[in-house]
Amino acid sequence: MAQANIDYRDCDRQVWEEELEDFVPSRILDAHIHCFWRSAVTGVDPDSLKKEDNDLETLNQWAEVLYPGRRMQYLILGHPFPGTDVAKHVELNRSEIDGVPGVRHNRLVTPSCKLEDIERDLKHPQFVGLKPYRTHSVTGDIAQCRIHEFLPHEQMEFANHHGLWVTMHLSRFHGCADQLNLQDLEEYTTKRYPNLKWMLAHCARSFTYWPMQEAVERLRDMPNIHYDTSAVTDPRPYISLLTKEDTRRIFWGSDGVGAAFFHGHYAALGRAWEHYDADRGDLQFPHCDGRPILAVYEQLLSMKFAAEIAGLSKDQVEGLFWRNAATALGIGEEEGASND
Ligand SMILES: [Zn+2]
Repeated sequence: MAQANIDYRDCDRQVWEEELEDFVPSRILDAHIHCFWRSAVTGVDPDSLKKEDNDLETLNQWAEVLYPGRRMQYLILGHPFPGTDVAKHVELNRSEIDGVPGVRHNRLVTPSCKLEDIERDLKHPQFVGLKPYRTHSVTGDIAQCRIHEFLPHEQMEFANHHGLWVTMHLSRFHGCADQLNLQDLEEYTTKRYPNLKWMLAHCARSFTYWPMQEAVERLRDMPNIHYDTSAVTDPRPYISLLTKEDTRRIFWGSDGVGAAFFHGHYAALGRAWEHYDADRGDLQFPHCDGRPILAVYEQLLSMKFAAEIAGLSKDQVEGLFWRNAATALGIGEEEGASND
């Protein structure tokens, strides 16, 4: 069992108590979060990795601090960390969540995974989908690859046949606004793989205002498209999404631990963006009380602002955090632990 190393500061608590406690509902399904075990990373000395193990207990410990008293459920995604032994990582996830109520898993897949292995693993009732990642593109180009280059057609056919989920972190510079990505998603959702259910990670990879603004009107016409909100900290993509999409297709996701539970945010710079860790930023704060907050709280603040602008009801907000994903994934209301 991993002990969480939780850096939670007075400024985080202040923002939670004054601005977020009334916004975040009593039930949360985090549809984009990862466990990590150094022992599944090959070719390096585990002690040399500057990354700690995160198991289910770690996730629950973080949840107790971040969202006190909330009832938690999870869709845990395979962790596409460089050098991961896929079989070992899958087995560690399987044994970690086996029989734990309220927890589901999307299996890490690479183009070299054998279909028979995927098929065997997906027989587990808590394994509901696949988690490919662009770093495994067969082209070697991790920035400009197309979907089929890191999620081969035979895996999409398999997912389509079984009606599985795929958590898709879109590649290419413009994410969901990229014309080839849009063409591919249109073809797959309407013609080729109509039973495959897409969860487009990071608001369809719209960390700035631009991709979502460009793409939302095409995406909303496609069936089987859903979004997770993970790691997006700019309010503008949420405003486009919440005002123009069916909010029932949007699921809360944090991308904890490493990609969201740090002090900083994902800085939007025109149409570009970058992970920004304020503890490493060497900022001086000459004009204010310099206390950056956790990125996951920046995300919650942005969602709150966007929900207010979009005029969402309390019921719709509850949907974003829990019901939309719980219904889509078939997770019962009573499944899962309370962290009171
Ligand atoms: Zn992630």
